[in-house]
Amino acid sequence: MTSAVDVAVIGGGVAGLVSARAATAAGATVTLLEAADHLGGLVGHHDLAGLTLDSGAESFATRGGHVASLADELGLDVVTPTPVPARVLIDGTLHSLPRAGVLGIPTDLDAPGLAEVLGTDGLARAREDLTLPVTHGRDTARASLAALVRSRMGAAVLDRLVRPIVRGVHSVEPEELRAEVLLPGIGDRLATHGSLAGALADIRAASPAGSAVAGIDGGVHRLTGALANDLIARGVTLMTASRALAARRTPGGWSLTVATPDGAARHLQAASLVLAAAPHTWPELPADLTRLGADWPPPQQIDLLTLVLRADALPPHEWAGTLVADPGQGAKALTYASAKWEWVQRAAGPDRAVVRLSYGTGTRASDAAARRELALGDAARLTGAGTPWPDHALEAVAHTRLTPPAPVLGWETSQRVRPLREASDAVGNLHLTGAWICGSGLASVVPHAQAAGAAAAT
Ligand SMILES: Cc1cc2nc3c(=O)[nH]c(=O)nc-3n(C[C@H](O)[C@H](O)[C@H](O)COP(=O)(O)OP(=O)(O)OC[C@H]3O[C@@H](n4cnc5c(N)ncnc54)[C@H](O)[C@@H]3O)c2cc1C
Repeated sequence: MTSAVDVAVIGGGVAGLVSARAATAAGATVTLLEAADHLGGLVGHHDLAGLTLDSGAESFATRGGHVASLADELGLDVVTPTPVPARVLIDGTLHSLPRAGVLGIPTDLDAPGLAEVLGTDGLARAREDLTLPVTHGRDTARASLAALVRSRMGAAVLDRLVRPIVRGVHSVEPEELRAEVLLPGIGDRLATHGSLAGALADIRAASPAGSAVAGIDGGVHRLTGALANDLIARGVTLMTASRALAARRTPGGWSLTVATPDGAARHLQAASLVLAAAPHTWPELPADLTRLGADWPPPQQIDLLTLVLRADALPPHEWAGTLVADPGQGAKALTYASAKWEWVQRAAGPDRAVVRLSYGTGTRASDAAARRELALGDAARLTGAGTPWPDHALEAVAHTRLTPPAPVLGWETSQRVRPLREASDAVGNLHLTGAWICGSGLASVVPHAQAAGAAAAT
């Protein structure tokens, strides 16, 4: 069976859905192909102990305002998290993260509690930042984030504050990315202010007021359902359980081969193609692209354990969550979902609490009983309960395994973007989008996918 459209979109994650919406809004006929039997990719939900909770992304960065505008257009209510502080677990002890900081780098070296987390020597070394000469000036922008922090403030700030945040939030080590990627303009600012603390205070002052992250009432996964309904209403064909196997260039555009659920191959002609899937899942493409995609760094593997607990089992939880300084094979972070999001607490009721553990290298627990034991032990440790909770403290636990693409922020991946763009431009009528190329997080993905979809429609 063969059909023809203006734009075919491969991938039904947020990038694919948003690019399909932009393309149809620009007047194109659109078919979207999704390999899984559901849409949303890394933005999904699971049902647990009578609650519908996010199984992947649970918030979005407010920078740019693109995600909030999209949510508004789709009739979803944007909510802000309860302003509770986060903690960091270092050598078995929980410490509050300094409130005045950027990526954990303190902007106020007199802040209370800093000596407790850095130690007396660590704080003394951090304070050297205020008097050290700025020797490398604008070259700082090219240094790794780790090298910048270590040279200005020492190893304690790097390992106890910056590394857990950069690893927990961006899934990358500070050695693997240039300082300027997460701290734009840092070289010039350092030269102007004479200290890293001063330069970052300047960056903080330039940030808009208000929360840096937001969520959606009922969960970020509602974005997926709302986008799908909107696309159907606009006449877009959404094909789930339909993996694109091959995309070949034709004089008129593209010819796609698609595996359908009944096992039959289907063919689709499209004038333009939006590729909103990461290289490790690509269909067969023109040779240069296939080669560059095969060389792409492999995806990560992240396991999430979501726990519904009896609230009286938890110590007081006025915290957003805990990052772990040196997780090894254990959990790298815990989020107190019910302390952070009013909608989760409302849904769970006063007698229950919801927490989520994330494991950056997957968990070693091989079956449900082992995961339950791991979850009880790690959640108790990361909330400061002291000893593992008894089994009856846990009402339910859900396990999600996600394989996000290698972070494009990282040096190794970022190096590959340019040759890939050049190869895709040479092929023509091909638009690349998604977290794998524009950066992880909905605040990066939404505007990038909107631009890709609009370009594909022209
Ligand atoms: C544990 C975790 C927590 C996160 N939390 C947050 C958060 O709180 N806030 C935030 O902003 N971001 C968060 N993110 C990042 C965010 O979820 C992603 O950046 C974003 O959802 C990526 O969307 P995407 O469409 O680019 O990719 P994906 O969601 O990966 O979608 C790609 C889709 O393409 C499909 N596909 C692949 N190959 C084919 C093929 N050949 N044919 C058809 N379909 C195909 C896949 O099945 C998939 O559905 C988190 C990520 C993870 C892993």
